[in-house]
Amino acid sequence: MSTYIFGHTNPDSDSIIGAISLSYLKNQLGEECIASRQGKISPETQFILDKFGGEIPVLKTAYAGEEVYIVDTTDLAILPKDILEATVLGVVDHHKLGDLTTSTPLECWIRPVGCSNTIIKEMFDYYKVEIPRDIAGMMMCAILSDTVIFKSPTCTKADTKAVKDLAKIAAIEDFKALGMEMFLVKSAVEGTSASDLLSRDYKEFAMGDSKVGVGQLEVVDLSVFDDKKEMLFEEMNRVKEQDGLHSIILLLTDIMTEGSLLLTLSDDESKIEKAFGKKLENHEVWLEGVLSRKKQIIPFLQPLF
Ligand code: MG
Ligand code: MG
Ligand code: MG
Repeated sequence: MSTYIFGHTNPDSDSIIGAISLSYLKNQLGEECIASRQGKISPETQFILDKFGGEIPVLKTAYAGEEVYIVDTTDLAILPKDILEATVLGVVDHHKLGDLTTSTPLECWIRPVGCSNTIIKEMFDYYKVEIPRDIAGMMMCAILSDTVIFKSPTCTKADTKAVKDLAKIAAIEDFKALGMEMFLVKSAVEGTSASDLLSRDYKEFAMGDSKVGVGQLEVVDLSVFDDKKEMLFEEMNRVKEQDGLHSIILLLTDIMTEGSLLLTLSDDESKIEKAFGKKLENHEVWLEGVLSRKKQIIPFLQPLF
């Protein structure tokens, strides 16, 4: 029987590459593992796979009766619906501890670093397994993505060290230039539907008895959204109604000026205003210096619910 390794729904590069890199490591250690995914590949992840010749993990959304490893989350809201009927052998993650529980002991690698692939790099070192050039390159890109090329407050020394080590293995001289190339791909939103944009990096969070959805789009220039705001708000409204959310937030993050325009529709906008100490105007507010949903948004919202 094979074991599946996958990340969260609306998978980002860390979830997809983490499934690939961890399953390679596990296979080297003699555990037969298959990389899988719970959803569509983003243009950024496709860019990374194309660049290094990586294969797209298999699409699989039901896991009852299977053995699994999970990367990049422990939140039930963004795990497969039947995850509690699977045997979770282990978790590799860099987020707040979620609400996943297991019925058997598990292998657990959870660290406050900028990316799951940084932890997987440490696992390769721990087990003294060599990382192939193509996998090293993909892992490096996943870390550059999650840490916004080291600009995010989530970035640690472990992340920068991992990128430098991986760049050497992958023979990439200018990793920052490759990181920028990747973010330019991410910024090309022209011709993409509002639903694709909102769901691209979208997570639902359980807060008190309420559900809050938070999406994020990281670009090199916010002007790409100038003619798109109206359709984004319409889509936010649709998802808020459909999923019975208390609030929905979309962060339009400018990685060059280093800040985020927060768009929101909420049953109680004063909660959002209280969380960030700022007044909303037409359901939006600029948050200077905010790049990280995990570190600069969720911890301020959660206590208000
Ligand atoms: Mg992720
Ligand atoms: Mg991650
Ligand atoms: Mg991210």
